[in-house]
Amino acid sequence: MNVSLLAKKFEDIISSGNNIGIIGHFNPDGDSVGSVSGMLHYLEMIGKHADVILPSDYPPFLKFLDKREDYIIFFKEKAKAASVIAGCDIIICLDFNTPSRTEDVEGCLRASNAVKILIDHHPMPETELFDLVISTTDTSSACEVLFQILLETEAIGGDVMKFPYNCAEALATGMLTDTNNFNNSTGAGTFRMASQLVKRGVDLEKISRDVFGSYSENRMRLMGYLLNKEMVVIDRYKASYIILSRKTQEEYNFQIGDSEGFVNLPLNIKGISVSALFVENDNYIRVSLRSKGEISVNALSNKYFNGGGHDKAAGGRLYMPLGDVPKYFEDSLKMFLENGAYDLLK
Ligand code: 5GP
Ligand code: MN
Repeated sequence: MNVSLLAKKFEDIISSGNNIGIIGHFNPDGDSVGSVSGMLHYLEMIGKHADVILPSDYPPFLKFLDKREDYIIFFKEKAKAASVIAGCDIIICLDFNTPSRTEDVEGCLRASNAVKILIDHHPMPETELFDLVISTTDTSSACEVLFQILLETEAIGGDVMKFPYNCAEALATGMLTDTNNFNNSTGAGTFRMASQLVKRGVDLEKISRDVFGSYSENRMRLMGYLLNKEMVVIDRYKASYIILSRKTQEEYNFQIGDSEGFVNLPLNIKGISVSALFVENDNYIRVSLRSKGEISVNALSNKYFNGGGHDKAAGGRLYMPLGDVPKYFEDSLKMFLENGAYDLLK
C-alpha cells in the first residue's frame, strides 16, 4: 500500500466536497464504530461537515464513541438517514468489503451520486461502486488502515500529536477490539500505531476496561451457562460450537452486544481449531466463526453460512430451525474438510 499516494488521493476528494456521509456496517463492532468515529473527528478538525450513518445500533459499551449521540441509526430513522445520504457529495465507507454488509442502506448507497471512498481491511473488496479504494489485509483493523492514511495527510503531517484526541481514542478502540486485545491479527504496524497513540495520550488500559470489562452480571452468568451446558466439542474435527436460543436469551435478559467474545472461548481448549457460535434471531440465525489454525473460516462461511469475513474471524447467517443447526454444522465441516482442508487441521 502506497500510503502517501493514497492519502493524497483521499485528501483531493475530501477537499472537493462539504457534505460527507460516513457509513459503517450492520451490527457494528468496535472497529466499525471506531473507524467511523475516528473519521468524523478528523473531518471536523479540518472544518468539514460530516454525518455518521450506521445500519443498526451499536452495543452500549461503544457509546463513548458517540458522545454527542448524533450517529444516525438507519434501522431507527430510515427517512432521515435516506435523506442525509441523498444529500451527500462524498460518502466514505469503512470496515466492510461488500455493500451488502450495510443491509438496507445498500439501496441508498447505490442510488447516491456522491464520490465514494472505501477504507477497509477485508479480503477481496467489491470495488466497482467506489472511486477510491484503500484496502489491505495486512492490517489488524480498518482503524489501523485509517490511522496510516490520516497520519500522512497534510493536517497531521506525520505528527501523531496533531490527531484530535477523540479521533485517536476511536482508532485505538477499533485496533483493540479487532485484535481481541492484541491476541490476533497483530503486526509490526499495529504495535507502532499503539505506541504512537499512547504517546498522543490515549489510555489503552482504560479503553480495554471499557470494552472488555464492563459487561452486566447477566452476561457473565449467561457465559457460564453456555460454557457449562451448551458448548459442544467435536474432537474428530477439532471443532466446537455453542447455540444461544431465544429462550436462553430471555432467561438471561440478553442485550445487544452480550454475546461479544463468546465465540473465542472454545478456542482456549487445547486441540480446538474451529469455533462457531449460533445466535437465534427473529428472522435468521446469526453465525460467528473463529479459527486458530490454518482453516479459513472466511472460506467456510462463504460456502456454507451465507457470509464471509477474514481467514480467522468470519460471520454469516442460517435460515433453518434451530434444532437442525448441530447436524448442519457437522455436515458442513465434514464436507469442507474433505474438500482439501483436512491437511490444514492442526
Ligand atoms: P462477528 O463474528 O464478530 O460477528 O464477525 C466476524 C467478522 O466476520 C466481521 O469482522 C466481519 O468481517 C465478518 N462478518 C460477520 N458477519 C458477516 C456477514 O453476514 N457477511 C459477511 N460477508 N461477513 C460477515
Ligand atoms: Mn474490522
